[in-house]
Amino acid sequence: MHEEAMCNCIVCGELKPHDQGLRIVTEFICGSCEREMVQTDVLDEKYPFYVHQMRQIWIHKNA
Ligand SMILES: [Zn+2]
Repeated sequence: MHEEAMCNCIVCGELKPHDQGLRIVTEFICGSCEREMVQTDVLDEKYPFYVHQMRQIWIHKNA
């Protein structure tokens, strides 16, 4: 059985295999973005971008 479900990463927007990332509710973050997020310092200029992307999930969810 070879089923390759692809998910759209909410951070980079790329299609990645669903088993190579992190699923949050109905959203998906690919493995490389997940790694980057873990390594991103809160003082890093990228951090607000991630927070913004994450917040969109909850806004969408609670809308
Ligand atoms: Zn990604």
